[in-house]
Amino acid sequence: MTQTDLTCDLHIIGGGPAGYTAAIYAARAGLKTVVSTPAPLSGMMAMAPAVGNWPSQVEPLPGRDILERIREQVLKYGAEIVLESVAGVNFTTDRGLQVFGGAQMHVAQAVIVATGAMNPAEKVPGEEELLGGGVAYCVACDGPLFAGEDVIVVGADEHAYEEALALSEIANSVTVTTPATKVNADERVARELELPDNVRIETGLRIQEIVGEGGVVTGARYRDRDGNERTIEGAGVFMYLRGNAPATEFLLGAVDLDEHDYIITDELMQTSLPGVFAAGDVRSKVVRQQCVAAGEGAVAALSAERFLHGGEVRSDRGQARE
Ligand SMILES: Cc1cc2nc3c(=O)[nH]c(=O)nc-3n(C[C@H](O)[C@H](O)[C@H](O)COP(=O)(O)OP(=O)(O)OC[C@H]3O[C@@H](n4cnc5c(N)ncnc54)[C@H](O)[C@@H]3O)c2cc1C
Repeated sequence: MTQTDLTCDLHIIGGGPAGYTAAIYAARAGLKTVVSTPAPLSGMMAMAPAVGNWPSQVEPLPGRDILERIREQVLKYGAEIVLESVAGVNFTTDRGLQVFGGAQMHVAQAVIVATGAMNPAEKVPGEEELLGGGVAYCVACDGPLFAGEDVIVVGADEHAYEEALALSEIANSVTVTTPATKVNADERVARELELPDNVRIETGLRIQEIVGEGGVVTGARYRDRDGNERTIEGAGVFMYLRGNAPATEFLLGAVDLDEHDYIITDELMQTSLPGVFAAGDVRSKVVRQQCVAAGEGAVAALSAERFLHGGEVRSDRGQARE
């Protein structure tokens, strides 16, 4: 492997809305900025079939199309995008922060980690084929598409329960399914969930396939504990079977993580290590949405800029940038 020293002011790892927005702010501020990302359009936003809550987006658009415009803006302002997956970092040397890409080592004065929380788990048959035809992962994103419909929520942890509760106000009926013999949410959520009459819980059912016709979801096929198969009908299947996993393994413990391996930051996106910032879904937080990720990318870049100019990274009140 050839090791080239590529030095820059700010190295951003991840090309989603968080990383690309950080790159726009940093490049506009005159920082030599490099973004490492495995493909021009990747991550969760690139997978979102119809985004209707991105500000200015009156009609829903595929996330890819919005991300492509953000990417063009990154290039317009002069940030460099390197297509590579970051495999490791070394933040302990006194020669700058080292980021190991595919075939090269970058050295930066500041780093923003914006690698998101893509679910690496195996998909259920039909899940990928019917994405955009009724398979969904987030009620705030796609719930309104299922107004008055019968929908299925797959998974019964606390997050799935909160989502089912939110869906019960939009959909005609919600069937929550879990392979476990009992639900796995905390008592408060479970109590609240008892309230709506249009929510039904089915335990002991393991999903086998999401089924559909002509690219549109018609239901999900299950196997029960005795091996019997049955199909539950529904126009939408919301998948919460597995928790999303943050992409932080390549950091090798360089910054503090929470108990689920998300990066802990303060409100200025500073991690436990000076000069290293994090933004977007990879952060330990509650709300994971595109415009939130973009906003955090902006904050991280402004904090990095201040750090690089030797200033204290602190809250910026009422100052506008051209
Ligand atoms: C199907 C679907 C639909 C959704 N719909 C909506 C919606 O309608 N509205 C909404 O607000 N939110 C929606 N979301 C959630 C939203 O897409 C995410 O909250 C948002 O994309 C998070 O942005 P991010 O930049 O933090 O992470 P991501 O968009 O996931 O980007 C992470 C980036 O990091 C890169 N990366 C990962 N590991 C490495 C590595 N080792 N080296 C280099 N790069 C790496 C990835 O390739 C990617 O470019 C949806 C999510 C899904 C899955």
